[in-house]
Amino acid sequence: MGYGSRREIGGLARAGLVVLDGRPLRDADQRIPVTPDLAGRLIVDGEPLDPPPGLALMLHKPLGVTCSHKEAGPLVYGLLPTRWRRREPALSTVGRLDKETSGLLLLTDDGALLHRIISPKASVSKRYQVSLDRPLRGDEGAILASGTLMLEGEERPLLPVTLTVHDATRVAVTLTEGRYHQVRRMFAALGNHVTALHRDRVGGLDLPADLAPGAHRIMSEAEIARVF
Ligand code: URA
Repeated sequence: MGYGSRREIGGLARAGLVVLDGRPLRDADQRIPVTPDLAGRLIVDGEPLDPPPGLALMLHKPLGVTCSHKEAGPLVYGLLPTRWRRREPALSTVGRLDKETSGLLLLTDDGALLHRIISPKASVSKRYQVSLDRPLRGDEGAILASGTLMLEGEERPLLPVTLTVHDATRVAVTLTEGRYHQVRRMFAALGNHVTALHRDRVGGLDLPADLAPGAHRIMSEAEIARVF
């Protein structure tokens, strides 16, 4: 779980920093059954034990951090506790947001869950709030809904996208695909330019209003179910 080597954990225990049911566990060799309530009973260095593998997180991705080692700049993983970089299985993002896109990003160490969410079969919707450089012409909603819009360099048209107009330069789009830079390229194909992009919903799961940019939260089973 990334807390350290056996030796390091032994050191924590001898220092009285591993506490079970309110009592320091000084004997690092003591075996403790892993039960679902263990995270509530075991305190490590002042904090409740991290959840075991099978973890799903939501993160409010701020602008300027990247989801990919291939892009320059700080990674989203740097926003999580340092020890989580050593967790096995490793956490990975569920799809990606561009460096200059903010909003709801899911992460998980559960490969099956990841594939269930990103699989085209699941067709999980994603909603983006978009600011545009130029006022809408008026035909964009119909074109996006038609399922005929071609992105540059692609051979298949986009599946239908729902457009909600807030005002002439601010809209929301809901899409079920996740093509590379899809929203920016979609508006480029419509002769416009995206100046700001923020994802506020994945499936039926909204970015919580109290989750500040850069903050994360462990998802409950109910929140995971809301994605589908
Ligand atoms: N579409 C984009 O263009 N960028 C994102 O980050 C997400 C969707």
